[in-house]
Amino acid sequence: MKQRALLLVDLQNDFCAGGALAVYEGDSTVDVANTLIDWCEARGEAVLATQDWHPAHHGSFASQHNVEPFTQGELDGLPQTFWPDHCVQESEGAQLHPLLNRAAVQATIRKGENPAIDSYSAFFDNGHRQKTGLEAWLRQRDIVELIVMGLATDYCVKFTVLDALQLGYTVNVITDGCRGVNVQPQDSAQAFMEMAAAGATLYTLADWQETQG
Ligand SMILES: [Zn+2]
Repeated sequence: MKQRALLLVDLQNDFCAGGALAVYEGDSTVDVANTLIDWCEARGEAVLATQDWHPAHHGSFASQHNVEPFTQGELDGLPQTFWPDHCVQESEGAQLHPLLNRAAVQATIRKGENPAIDSYSAFFDNGHRQKTGLEAWLRQRDIVELIVMGLATDYCVKFTVLDALQLGYTVNVITDGCRGVNVQPQDSAQAFMEMAAAGATLYTLADWQETQG
């Protein structure tokens, strides 16, 4: 039987209100996540979460380059947006949101541990140089379809979805479970269009519940 999994992207304190890289309305995705967790648990579908998980001196941090956060530069040959320090391993900011039903999460995929490269996608680093354990985990369980939501729409959600599509997964994105950084105001809308153009199906939570029974 075709198996499906819920993939919750970076629902971490640093991307929510009061966090180091807070995304506007980031917290409001947690209720959507908990509703989807219940929906998946009722159907025996797997629930996974990702965590951005950086060493303290990660090369994506503006502080490492003496530049302002959100400026553009280069990291080890790749274009890089430099971020405020965020999701430092073991810090409070790197923990999953306290209101998320964390007990339901069967596996947590960590990314961004190599200081020399950033990792937006849950599958690969930004240079596609190294894989995380996500694909192996999914293959072992014959999971071929994903429900994806989380933070942030225009970075980690987008690149996770694009990689998943390229790897052959069927991908459903729950749009109201996502919020974006929006360095440029249209970035999230643009990201949703890119995901749809690449083959993802976009749903609101209500649409999902209505159409998927
Ligand atoms: Zn990061």
